[in-house]
Amino acid sequence: KNYHTVLAENRKLYNEVQELKGNIRVYCRIRPFLPGENRKSNTINYIGEDGELVLVNPSKPGKDGQKMFKFNKVYGPAASQEEVFLDTQPLIRSVLDGYNVCIFAYGQTGSGKTYTMTGPDSPTEEEWGVNYRALNDLFHISRTRRDTFMYEVGVQMVEIYNEQVRDLLSNDGSVKKLGIVNTSKPNGLAVPDASMRPVQSTSDVMNLMQTGLTNRAMSATALNERSSRSHSIVTVHVRGVDLKTGATLRGSLHLVDLAGSERVDRSEVTGDRLKEAQHINKSLSALGDVIFALSQKSPHVPYRNSKLTQVLQSSLGGHAKTLMFVQINPDAGSYSETLSTLKFAERVSGVELGAARSQK
Ligand code: ADP
Repeated sequence: KNYHTVLAENRKLYNEVQELKGNIRVYCRIRPFLPGENRKSNTINYIGEDGELVLVNPSKPGKDGQKMFKFNKVYGPAASQEEVFLDTQPLIRSVLDGYNVCIFAYGQTGSGKTYTMTGPDSPTEEEWGVNYRALNDLFHISRTRRDTFMYEVGVQMVEIYNEQVRDLLSNDGSVKKLGIVNTSKPNGLAVPDASMRPVQSTSDVMNLMQTGLTNRAMSATALNERSSRSHSIVTVHVRGVDLKTGATLRGSLHLVDLAGSERVDRSEVTGDRLKEAQHINKSLSALGDVIFALSQKSPHVPYRNSKLTQVLQSSLGGHAKTLMFVQINPDAGSYSETLSTLKFAERVSGVELGAARSQK
């Protein structure tokens, strides 16, 4: 079979499975090589317009070492922040119509999760990530609807570290541990004790995020690069009142920068580091299981297996909309992490192309 026949078969299979699955969207983003990295050791050799991607095993030259994956979108290294956001925008808009939306960034440390969600350090406007663009959009649309709707917006920010939920916006800057309420109500607050800050503009939110990041960083110095080992969740709660009828609607947007998905070698780490790694593994696989169960329309969705899935329960499944950015570092040295990242993504997308995937 030639390459194009296999591609066509893959597409057909993908479209068939796609119709069965739930509301999860998976966008894969390959970050560019950074200055000083070896561009020749690239593991990605094909990026298709319909979301296909071919990963090459650097130690298996030839067709046998190639695997094809297919997602809703694949962004190559040249994709701009704006281009990525254009495909995210419709989801953001639905928050103002009363939907719960969750946007995740998944991938190993250094694969571009924070770049996609927030941007680089001290970004220019062009470099702003999804967070900033999403909030700008929310406030902009709510202003254009000012004659028909009155919107109130509040923000919470928490991190989950070692299966403990902590408030990043407490008044005194202390990072408090919080309980989770088991809420199946679509708009119940999962972490009612996390500080809720009213906001009126994008810059209000950015200031809060800065506070949250500072709080997170303060504990990070003690714990050594903690940010890659905890999940951070910014939640934007929106309440809209229809000025004619008085009816209210509520929507929420969760922006989740997940802990690095890299596996650690158990023989090399012990103590706190091993415990961290186990907690991360557990919560990421619990997240994968929940999204997979939802994509299969399974009657049992295992939310209870981690704090991450408990906090997000009301915003995963039901009428909620989920988008996962799967981040890839194209370097050959990351091949095995990339493969496991892509397998995770394939599973949560509910589309496993199986045997037809490899392009022999
Ligand atoms: P992670 O959050 O997954 O640990 P980062 O977002 O910190 O990874 O990205 C690692 C490095 O790569 C950073 O220096 C970041 O600025 C850079 N980077 C990531 N994605 C891109 C991109 N699309 N374009 C340019 N630089 C990027």
